[in-house]
Amino acid sequence: MDDSTAVTRVDVAIVGAGPIGLCFANALSRQGVSAMLIDRQPRSAMMNPDSDGREIALTRSSQQILDKLDVWSRVEPAERARMRGAKVFDGQSLFAMQIAPDASKDEPLGCLVPNRVIRRAAYAALQTTTPQASAPGPGEILWRDEQEIAHFQTGDTAVDLVLESGERIHASLLVAADSRFSTTRRAMGIPVHSYQHGQHMLVCRMHHDEPHDQTAWEWFGHGQTLALLPVDTHCSSVVLTLSPADMEKQLALSVEAFDADITQRFGGRLGAMRRAAEPHRYPLVSVYAERFVGPRQALIGDAAVGMHPVTAHGFNLGLQGLSRLADLIGDARAQGEDIASSSLLRRYQREQRLATAPLFAATLAIVGLYTDDRTPARLLRKAVLRAGEAAWPVKRLIAGHLMRSSN
Ligand SMILES: Cc1cc2nc3c(=O)[nH]c(=O)nc-3n(C[C@H](O)[C@H](O)[C@H](O)COP(=O)(O)OP(=O)(O)OC[C@H]3O[C@@H](n4cnc5c(N)ncnc54)[C@H](O)[C@@H]3O)c2cc1C
Repeated sequence: MDDSTAVTRVDVAIVGAGPIGLCFANALSRQGVSAMLIDRQPRSAMMNPDSDGREIALTRSSQQILDKLDVWSRVEPAERARMRGAKVFDGQSLFAMQIAPDASKDEPLGCLVPNRVIRRAAYAALQTTTPQASAPGPGEILWRDEQEIAHFQTGDTAVDLVLESGERIHASLLVAADSRFSTTRRAMGIPVHSYQHGQHMLVCRMHHDEPHDQTAWEWFGHGQTLALLPVDTHCSSVVLTLSPADMEKQLALSVEAFDADITQRFGGRLGAMRRAAEPHRYPLVSVYAERFVGPRQALIGDAAVGMHPVTAHGFNLGLQGLSRLADLIGDARAQGEDIASSSLLRRYQREQRLATAPLFAATLAIVGLYTDDRTPARLLRKAVLRAGEAAWPVKRLIAGHLMRSSN
């Protein structure tokens, strides 16, 4: 790098200021580590994000992490929907596996918060410094919005990056938090195991006449998967998974026809249903990076593990990962050690893979079982549901993950 050119020096350069990148910068800042957040979106879009229809089911452990980052206190109580339990149905059968049906009002199974609200709170919680500073102090965060990396080069002691604006950055560590389709991960040369599920997911808030009793439903019918996430007493987020062709037809329906169709898909169990917001569609792709680290490089959030949303773990696992990495970096800094040593990065990778690989594999297995409508799979899932209902360990495993506390 030409020494005569102005260079901005930070400890960590983070590509992607989604909920994970924002929380990671926040966690680093609390450890006295400086960082630069680089995102292709304008700051205004991060400050006040548009609705993307996602309702994020947060575990207790996630709520505790968000609390430590001063994000949870910025989520208004009215925006937190408590989930008392969950029911899993198969086909037209009225039999349901009930998960934590006894969770009380004060001890809910989990909590649902719109993704837009989490992103807004994560942005607000992050302390910012002047974007012009070329050498931020300990714990200060610099912003580069509407920017992407043009190229970067990794050396023994640092990573040198050039932004599309031409600005040069010198960092100890480069972290990719730029989604499951991460271009930074690709530029790092890290391959992924990618699973195209051949289906699209629709999410849409709906009003309904009958109450849901603060219970989430997961309903595996034939040719469709339906879920219901409780918001208000008479409002839920409906999640519908269909083939791309069927999804096109669904989205082409008039509002009245859409409402009638969803009411009918739920078998009238919630009475008449009416659209409360615009539907959003997501093509379903899961990814698992072959490595989570490289020389002075790390992946966090969906860039490392892009989960299928059916088990609602993506953000929860991402939060665990960013806390893990920020703690390791903070400890190294406190001891005057390299914050991106290969041993530190390998430890992050080992622990985060242990935490994510079993859930990623289990989620793929569930998706495979419940999207296969051939007779053997149908019989197997009926058996799994009944076995799960009878076997407390199975339900405890599912409920335990949702209710887990980090203590
Ligand atoms: C329908 C649905 C429901 C879900 N429900 C749950 C749930 O209940 N519980 C749960 O735990 N998880 C859930 N998830 C998963 C959760 O939403 C994700 O895990 C989480 O959003 C990942 O955050 P992220 O910051 O890693 O990535 P993203 O949210 O994808 O953010 C990436 C950021 O990177 C920026 N960016 C991208 N490319 C570049 C680039 N080249 N240069 C600069 N910036 C770039 C983008 O502008 C964006 O700001 C759900 C997901 C979906 C789709």
